[in-house]
Amino acid sequence: MSITPLMPVYPRCDVRPVRGEGCWLVGERGERYLDFAAGIAVNALGHGHPHVTKVLQDQIATLMHVSNLYGSPQGEALAQRIIDNCFADTIFFTNSGAEAVECAIKTARRYHYVNGQPNRTKLITFKNAFHGRTMGAISATDQPKMRDGFEPLAPGFDYAAFNDLEGALALVDENTAGFLVETVQGEGGMTAGTPEFIRGLRKACDEQGMLLVLDEIQCGYGRTGKFFAYEHYGITPDIMTVAKGIGNGFPLGACLATEEAAKGMVFGTHGSTYGGNPLAMAAGMAVLDVMLEDGFFERVEKTGERLRQALEQLLPNHDALFEEIRGKGLMLGIKLKEPAVSRDFVAHLRDNHRLLTVAAGDNVFRLLPPLVIEEDHIAECIERLSAGARSYAPLTDD
Ligand SMILES: *Cc1c(COP(=O)(O)O)cnc(C)c1O
Repeated sequence: MSITPLMPVYPRCDVRPVRGEGCWLVGERGERYLDFAAGIAVNALGHGHPHVTKVLQDQIATLMHVSNLYGSPQGEALAQRIIDNCFADTIFFTNSGAEAVECAIKTARRYHYVNGQPNRTKLITFKNAFHGRTMGAISATDQPKMRDGFEPLAPGFDYAAFNDLEGALALVDENTAGFLVETVQGEGGMTAGTPEFIRGLRKACDEQGMLLVLDEIQCGYGRTGKFFAYEHYGITPDIMTVAKGIGNGFPLGACLATEEAAKGMVFGTHGSTYGGNPLAMAAGMAVLDVMLEDGFFERVEKTGERLRQALEQLLPNHDALFEEIRGKGLMLGIKLKEPAVSRDFVAHLRDNHRLLTVAAGDNVFRLLPPLVIEEDHIAECIERLSAGARSYAPLTDD
């Protein structure tokens, strides 16, 4: 037998973390990595955050799981706290991002169904989008690497180019339910939606009775220097998905909606056994205890600015390798010039300089540090990145 015990769908590398300390990961042999990947934007407060640890330990000892057949004081409290700080009126908690996307798609379709327009089932989504790996979520992207071999996929999705407002509006017809879009594309290449694009989609939704569904699973929860990335645009969505940073590593996601957009989601239409159990709600509360402290998001914005400035100074020293900086706040990406390949460069930084980053589409690599990094982590990152750029020799064809 040659198949591995873990289904071999990930190209797992030799970093085998056994412990985390703030912004550092420690491997099996005690080697230390500066973690600017943070579980792909999950460990927003770093590893082993004392408050999160304490709250989870207490909750495990008190009550871990009960069925959603019972009342949930823990869920009501977390939902109310999120609602008090954003556009939403109601929330469905899930165990992952993809499940939040599933709930969002169902919520959007049900809205038109109960509105007497059951034909309006189609969501316009965007090229290079990433919404997760369930059948619904892979149907909502045009990326062949996620779709190949899994057809037939769910019908009801069209794909426009990201940041191309006219292209998106041209796809609207009488069957369109709305748009499903990442406010800042993550996996696809760290491209922020332009203000004209995001506001233009909102306006079209308002004028034509469609729903704006934002996927903020990666860019939400403080990552861009605001609680949610849509706040940069002066608009609000009708439905929104969050996950990743929401539980600092405890599996938790959420589908948020306005009262109007959620009007089809009545008793019996949706469910989840684990979704929103007391342990998950404790994780969500512990994260908000820290994030909603005065000045947290302002600090992320400032730290993001500092990191960006440091990168801007570094880039010209390696202009055969680095093309440009993308993203917002502490959701930054650097596009590489060929023949450099982002996946190889990420491996090089990891193996030779013990700096963890994440590859993305469009030859970009991502810097997604814990939101609590300090000046010395930025300095350390720049030092390792600079050394990595000097020592990197991309393979060429000859
Ligand atoms: C990670 C991600 C998802 C999927 O989340 P999972 O928890 O892996 O299911 C969906 N959308 C975006 C924008 C993401 O970054």
